[in-house]
Amino acid sequence: MMSDALTRRQFVAAVSAGSLAAAASKTVPAYANLTKKASQLALLGGEPVRKNKPWPDWPRCCWDETLTDSLLKTAKSGIWCRIQSASGTVPTFEKEYAKLMGAKSCVATGAGTQALHTCVEALGIGPGDEVITSPYTDPGTIQGILSARALPVLADLDVESYQLDPADVERKINENTRAIMPVHMMGQPCDMDSIMAIAKRHNLRVIEDACQAHLAEHRGRKLGTIGDLGCFSFQSSKTLACGEGGGIIGNDEQLMERCYTVHNHGTSRKGRTELIGPKYRMNEFEAAVLLGQFPGVIKRWRRRNENAAYLTARMKDIPGLTPQKLYPGTESGSFYLYTMSYHKDRFDGVNRATFLKAIRAEGIGLSEYIAQGLHREPWIDEILNSKVYKTMYSPERLRRYSEERNCPNCDRVCEEMVMLWASGPLLASQEEVADIADAIEKVYENRAKLRQV
Ligand SMILES: *Cc1c(COP(=O)(O)O)cnc(C)c1O
Repeated sequence: MMSDALTRRQFVAAVSAGSLAAAASKTVPAYANLTKKASQLALLGGEPVRKNKPWPDWPRCCWDETLTDSLLKTAKSGIWCRIQSASGTVPTFEKEYAKLMGAKSCVATGAGTQALHTCVEALGIGPGDEVITSPYTDPGTIQGILSARALPVLADLDVESYQLDPADVERKINENTRAIMPVHMMGQPCDMDSIMAIAKRHNLRVIEDACQAHLAEHRGRKLGTIGDLGCFSFQSSKTLACGEGGGIIGNDEQLMERCYTVHNHGTSRKGRTELIGPKYRMNEFEAAVLLGQFPGVIKRWRRRNENAAYLTARMKDIPGLTPQKLYPGTESGSFYLYTMSYHKDRFDGVNRATFLKAIRAEGIGLSEYIAQGLHREPWIDEILNSKVYKTMYSPERLRRYSEERNCPNCDRVCEEMVMLWASGPLLASQEEVADIADAIEKVYENRAKLRQV
């Protein structure tokens, strides 16, 4: 008997799509031995794959005795600000973080956005100068450039890696370009071979926005140590977190001293006020939380990489979802986010919103991530009409800027993105992470039933 909800044509399509997919897949779907009710989509009344099982709750799950002791020690010491002691938590964290990342030094800041702005200022980049970066990122990337009243020039993406497309970066270079700011999206490396070659060819600085990319590696080097300077965020959601916090790493001691001076209201370590600079110092409580979190940081990074590799292997059997492309030379990621492209045409035309509804009903919290690229946000009109930008950039430059504000590949990435906040979930056991792949398989196998939802 046909169910009321299905026409005969849909029923045939549902059955044949399911059996074709089963035949195409070498492995029996993991849920195949479940009851009939369980193999029915939860969205259509079946049992969810995952029910009442919370994921490790980041960052609360890394809160332990060590972290509590570290924070209490700072509270009791009365050393609450970095300038009170050279052996306080902030200077200690800077030494430890630089060591962990294989960099000569580190300057801690109050946020990743502050770290990025500090680097732009320290490199002497300001009004009239241009920095090329990605439209697919946290607003902090762009604001790090805008705060220095430089022009953030947006290059388009590679649709498979979600990273800056080096060819478009090179097209957007002109005589005013001073730096490239590659953003290691999701915590995995950009095409650094190409980006560094372009920077060298055009004599440009490279500020890595590694705000999502703690501990990730490319050709034997940690992200953040490949360009001139690397920036990190320790905001709550990131894989090393203290609420709000940031850091700059680098190997050029002179440049790092300039970063220190800029972030310290323009005052050098010697106490001379030399430059224009905001006050962006990290406080001792934030560093105490970060130091208290250090003992497990490598273990958690390994676990996220192992679980990400497992998920990617499981996704090979699902033609409708393609995991983020990783460039040659990628040795590890941070897997702050685990991301995939959703191909509607390979899901029998089921749109992404419906897929996400079905997968959430199975107890797996996948989502869209960034709704639209920064090239579509109103800040562009703000700068095009502002006094300072009209003074510093020619009408011809601003007209061209307005014309070049389209990034079609970024638009496509925004439409196809399917994302898992991974800081917590990828710390779970592989058995639990299997729920994610099982739920995706289940929805994929039942995709024909979703066309009417
Ligand atoms: C989080 C983030 C930032 C900004 O860091 P904050 O600490 O939030 O200021 C910048 N860029 C990227 C890619 C980020 O993910």
